Amino acid sequence: MKNRVVSGYRPSGRLHLGHYHGNLKNMIRLQDERDCYFFVADWHALTTEYRDTSMLGTWTEEMVLDWLAAGMDPDRCTIYRQSDIRGIPELVLYLGMIVTLGELERNPTYKEQLRELDSRVVNTYGFLGYPVLMATDILAVDAELVPVGEDQLPHLELTREIARSFNSLYEPVFPEPQPVLSRAPKIPGTDGRKMSKSYNNYIGLEDSAEVIGKKVRKMITDPARKRRDDKGHPEVCTVFSLYPIYFPDDVERVAAECKDALIGCTDCKDRIAQAIACDLAPFRKRRSELVEKPDVVREILARGANVVNPIVDESLARAKRAMKIGNPHFGGDL
Ligand code: SF4
Repeated sequence: MKNRVVSGYRPSGRLHLGHYHGNLKNMIRLQDERDCYFFVADWHALTTEYRDTSMLGTWTEEMVLDWLAAGMDPDRCTIYRQSDIRGIPELVLYLGMIVTLGELERNPTYKEQLRELDSRVVNTYGFLGYPVLMATDILAVDAELVPVGEDQLPHLELTREIARSFNSLYEPVFPEPQPVLSRAPKIPGTDGRKMSKSYNNYIGLEDSAEVIGKKVRKMITDPARKRRDDKGHPEVCTVFSLYPIYFPDDVERVAAECKDALIGCTDCKDRIAQAIACDLAPFRKRRSELVEKPDVVREILARGANVVNPIVDESLARAKRAMKIGNPHFGGDL
């Protein structure tokens, strides 16, 4: 039997190239290798976006449509929305009882976001406790593997710690999930910083070839290469960092030509822009076909909820029985 993998993503609306190469391709690859559960983490979004929830539904739909257009297949993985899973909040309550404040406050993301965001916005019970929600998402479906980047390892370690604490306090209920380190490349934005909507430096998956061309032409290159015959330094060039993705067999030749000023930045950029547009063309075609099916996301999420709810109900019943909580005659035959 294939190992079960779970991975959740905050609804962020239309996706960009950073998402595509960062997570989405991994998810699509994993759906053939593992028993995959991919969910829209709309409760996680609430931890920072609770003041204005008006776009959460739209962002969920847009993100799932992008997943599907990129190749995620509901017949090969389970796609669901976190807030459709009725057993999660109760399990969060039980797991929250065994996590100390110190464990939550040591979470590096918590400290970082308190610094970066307006502390009045995220200085909440919900935001401090979101690692418990994350742990519940993983443990509730008995996931054995969780794809993570290096920076997310502390979160997974806390999940493992929660599973260990629960199993030793009561009885063994939850498997300890293992990390699968993501091999995703980092995609720079057009200004050289991390690609992000909030920096407005992104290339959207929906962008036309013309828009992609314009955005790539604005990309930061080697600041020392001011004229066509100046020798370049590809290692500091944002455009060059896309070559390993789009022209993996051509990286050395392009680097040498740049260093010897044998190619100009305009040609170099146009080549990358065309490659991006060409790579995204099938995505754009599938996306426009999916938009013609207005119920597709609703149906897929409903189907996913039907699969996941019984799994989580069963985990919840096992946990309650181990904790000797509630009436054993309620909540199934376990
Ligand atoms: S030639 Fe290409 S790699 Fe060299 S600086 Fe210009 S855009 Fe960058």
